[in-house]
Amino acid sequence: MSQRVTVIGGGVVGLATAYALVRAGCLVDVVEARDSLASATSFANGGQLSYRYVAPLADAGVPWQALGWLLRGDSPLRLRLRMDPAQWRWLAAFVMACRTPVNRRNAAQLLGLALESQAALARWREQDGLDDFAWRRNGKLVAFRTQRAFAHAREQLLDPVSQRVLDAEQVRLLEPALAEAPFVGGVFTPDEEVADCHRFCLRLAERLQASGQCRLWLGQPVTRLIRRKDEVVALALADRQLDVQRLVLCAGHRSAGLGLPGLDLPVYPLKGYSLTAPIAAHRAPEVSLTDYERKIVYARLDQQLRVAAMVDIVGYDDSVDAGRLRSMRRLAGETLPEAADYDQAVEWAGMRPATPTGVPIIGATPYRNLWLNLGHGALGFTLACGSGERLARMMG
Ligand SMILES: Cc1cc2nc3c(=O)[nH]c(=O)nc-3n(C[C@H](O)[C@H](O)[C@H](O)COP(=O)(O)OP(=O)(O)OC[C@H]3O[C@@H](n4cnc5c(N)ncnc54)[C@H](O)[C@@H]3O)c2cc1C
Repeated sequence: MSQRVTVIGGGVVGLATAYALVRAGCLVDVVEARDSLASATSFANGGQLSYRYVAPLADAGVPWQALGWLLRGDSPLRLRLRMDPAQWRWLAAFVMACRTPVNRRNAAQLLGLALESQAALARWREQDGLDDFAWRRNGKLVAFRTQRAFAHAREQLLDPVSQRVLDAEQVRLLEPALAEAPFVGGVFTPDEEVADCHRFCLRLAERLQASGQCRLWLGQPVTRLIRRKDEVVALALADRQLDVQRLVLCAGHRSAGLGLPGLDLPVYPLKGYSLTAPIAAHRAPEVSLTDYERKIVYARLDQQLRVAAMVDIVGYDDSVDAGRLRSMRRLAGETLPEAADYDQAVEWAGMRPATPTGVPIIGATPYRNLWLNLGHGALGFTLACGSGERLARMMG
């Protein structure tokens, strides 16, 4: 008889995990707290499948740089200290991870997972015909405003064979939408991809339902994991219990709330924002763009421009901060004034489920039938397919 696996969380990581498990022949239940799938952090993220730009935030010098940012009004980073030991523990572990050798080691792990993920998505698209989620291999341009940052990037090229270093003129030739932008140069990586994460999740959900191997339980917040000795036997839902054979926790930034004794889940929310503006007759960039100094990403998703940025360490408040969005709108309008109708932009805030090191937690636990796939931080869309397949292999 096929294995039955219950997945908590219907975001991109939970759905990709469910999809990989169904492909491996399992019967799957996806239990999601909200009434709709992928309506938390996987809803309107930056849309970047940024396989070769996975270096974690925690790096040598970042705490000092962060102190400088905190003094600026339009800073990419905002920190509000709270009476929350989880926040302090997370910050302390983050500072400990800000060392060059640790960053290199974690970046290498993330790169391996990212390339697995790119291959997994290619298989799902080609073998299963998964499409209609604004996927394109359009390449990514990381553009620099200062010669110093540009020179540093040239020295650090990850893949000098396929990555192209472009001067200011070549940047404008590659991407005419940047004709007026003040970039001094850039690095272009042609194999990078872009897609709409929410639409991708909906396509996965359709396939899961059509497989006959998956049940989706929507509007069912799990309040507690019920255990017997070293095993989880059931989930406590609002009005019933759901028995489980094998369980995978993919509850994003809420995962720590479902912890069990002996299970340390160092995941904390890093809030970010996006704008989704109609392109219509505008001149939007075809390549994905990262404005390196301002830490803003731009992606064209069919007839919309998605702009994403900011890291707010402010606890679990997921509200949209009008001031932060105003600042993003102004910066986007300065850099790409002709690219989209920013006045019509839809605003959104989401909570990146971040570990201090930036490396997600994928694998077994001290509980015999409990597995984890969480903590993908700023790269959950990029890493979801590879993480799902990796976990399905481990469980197999
Ligand atoms: C502004 C911004 C831009 C980003 N840009 C990019 C990008 O360009 N590329 C990229 O790769 N990544 C990007 N990310 C990161 C990416 O969006 C996340 O890493 C990813 O969405 C996390 O997916 P998840 O499934 O782990 O979490 P979620 O999408 O949050 O899913 C978790 C699900 O679990 C459910 N849940 C939680 N608790 C319970 C419970 N108790 N019972 C039942 N269900 C529960 C939630 O309702 C939710 O639906 C960005 C994030 C932000 C905020």
